[in-house]
Parts: sequence; C-alpha cells; structure tokens
Amino acid sequence: MGVDMTHQHPPSRRATWQREAVRENILTRHDHPTAHEVHASLNLTGIGLATVYRHLAVLVTEGTVRTVVHDGETRYDRNTNPHAHASCTGCGALWDVPLPEHIAEHRPDGLEKVAGVQLTYAGRCCDCP
Ligand SMILES: [Zn+2]
Ligand SMILES: [Zn+2]
Repeated sequence: MGVDMTHQHPPSRRATWQREAVRENILTRHDHPTAHEVHASLNLTGIGLATVYRHLAVLVTEGTVRTVVHDGETRYDRNTNPHAHASCTGCGALWDVPLPEHIAEHRPDGLEKVAGVQLTYAGRCCDCP
C-alpha cells in the first residue's frame, strides 16, 4: 500500500543501466537515428522515451555524440569528427562522407571565426530505384 516513489527517485542502479543502454546503442550504429529510433530499438528493455531523450542530451553535452538536423528532425551522430553527410531522397538514409578538402579552413566573408560546417549532399542512393 506504500506510495510508489520510483518515478520521483529512480534508484541509481536503474539510472545507470538505462544510461549505458542508450550509450551503447548510439555508439554501435551508423545510421544517425532519431531519439524515437533509439527508443524503438531499446523497446524490449522497457526504457521510456523521455529517459532516452534525457540520456541522449547528456551524451551531446559531454561531447560523446553530436546532433545533426535533417528534414526537420534531430538525429544523433556518433561521429564527432568534422564530416559531411549524404542523404537519399528516396529511402531517407543518411550517411557520413568526407568534407571536401580545405572547406573547413575556408573562412567566408563576414564570419569572424568558423565554428562548424554543415553540409549534406542529397540525391538517390545506389539501392533506390
Ligand atoms: Zn535510398
Ligand atoms: Zn554523421
């Protein structure tokens, strides 16, 4: 009959396995998943979507992963080195490609300092008709 305090005060052991599950998932895939996709693949563990979002945010803050906004959706990217992306307009796949040479050193007029470059090539992938 006691009050369930689980949601207010999750035991630290539970918080740890959830954090590790999210970390392991994002670090072992290359498909730039959304938080929903990470959640879907961890569904059997019973982890909540809000928890997935929270741990992904921590991983971004600590620099373990970065985000890339694609088609208005935030995707999570385990590759934190400078790189460009290619995306398929047919199946929605998004993958890493090298930045064109020297683009990262180029400083456009009007920018005091370049903090980053976001470049996504779009087209049909080799697997799409
Ligand atoms: Zn495709
Ligand atoms: Zn990437």
